[in-house]
Amino acid sequence: MICSQAAERSVLSDSEAEGGHGQGGRESLLALWREPLRLFRTARQLCRETCGDEVSFVVNRNINFTNVCVGRCKFCAFRRVEGFRLTDQQILDRVASADALGATELCIQGGLAPGMVVEDYCHILELISSDYPRIHLHAFSPMEVLHMAGNSGVEVAAALLDLKAAGLGSMPGTAAEILVDEVRRQICPTKMNVAMWREVITTAHRLGIPTTSTMLYGHVESFQDRLAHLEILREIQGQTRGITEFILLPLVPWRTELAGVTRGPDLLENLKMHALARVALHPLITNVQSSWVKLGREAAGATLEWGVNDLGGTLMEDHISHSAGSTESQYISADELCEIIERHGRVPVQRTTLYQRV
Ligand code: SF4
Repeated sequence: MICSQAAERSVLSDSEAEGGHGQGGRESLLALWREPLRLFRTARQLCRETCGDEVSFVVNRNINFTNVCVGRCKFCAFRRVEGFRLTDQQILDRVASADALGATELCIQGGLAPGMVVEDYCHILELISSDYPRIHLHAFSPMEVLHMAGNSGVEVAAALLDLKAAGLGSMPGTAAEILVDEVRRQICPTKMNVAMWREVITTAHRLGIPTTSTMLYGHVESFQDRLAHLEILREIQGQTRGITEFILLPLVPWRTELAGVTRGPDLLENLKMHALARVALHPLITNVQSSWVKLGREAAGATLEWGVNDLGGTLMEDHISHSAGSTESQYISADELCEIIERHGRVPVQRTTLYQRV
């Protein structure tokens, strides 16, 4: 397994390193934030101790199967009241093209289409897994799970068990945005609250479904909100060990309702935030990923100097970032990812979704 060896030391005290940060931990992190050079040095050192020289990536494809959504998230330019829903054949065509490029993972997410029930989501998984059993299905956000369970009138655990039986391998820890209810009321008022997000994620872990974890930052949240978010992820991981990685998602505001409110984080803030995540989550979450499609390739490469050990996937399509105004292309080849990693003096490693070597 990549990056399995937890480093011995943390900038936090032992009790802070095991669970939440506590007040002392928050003050340590704030002090580091105010001293970027010390922050970068610490993040770099922890990353090297934990992951060595290796930087991983996964050959995958996103499939956004519908943009029809009843949600009202202000950072989203993807949703439509009337939009597309891929047919079975369109889904299979996308899977075939991913398979031809050697993809080991499909990341499947969509809008919250009215009336979609658990069986509809299971059908997508079964459609793919019956023809492509070797491809890992990384699918459906906690909000989608809540949506389908509500539409079907079943408990979240029952929905998750059905999805697992249909071929679900793991789940994206998206819909997290910022895990502070007051912030959620401002940017995604129709989305699940923090307690419900935790409930879906920890239920998935209990049922043997690993998840990633994410943070959408650079909008209305404060620095303390970001720390509260990271603390929740630490608490969950301390209890379940079910989180495979942490992915930082800087806001791309240009075509969203938040365009007039913020320009999104600048380069320095992005670099600092990736470094802070490495320090704050150490040693519980060892894989910290930057998003080349949101940051751009150059900036994503720069994060490798300051605490990041994973560049995510080849994607092949990303309607969500592009609708919001990302100007990056929707595909990066494995060779290009290797080039970026090597340019920063690191060793590229192709991985599976669950951080095994390919
Ligand atoms: S972020 Fe997801 S839930 Fe929110 S409006 Fe967009 S598609 Fe819907």
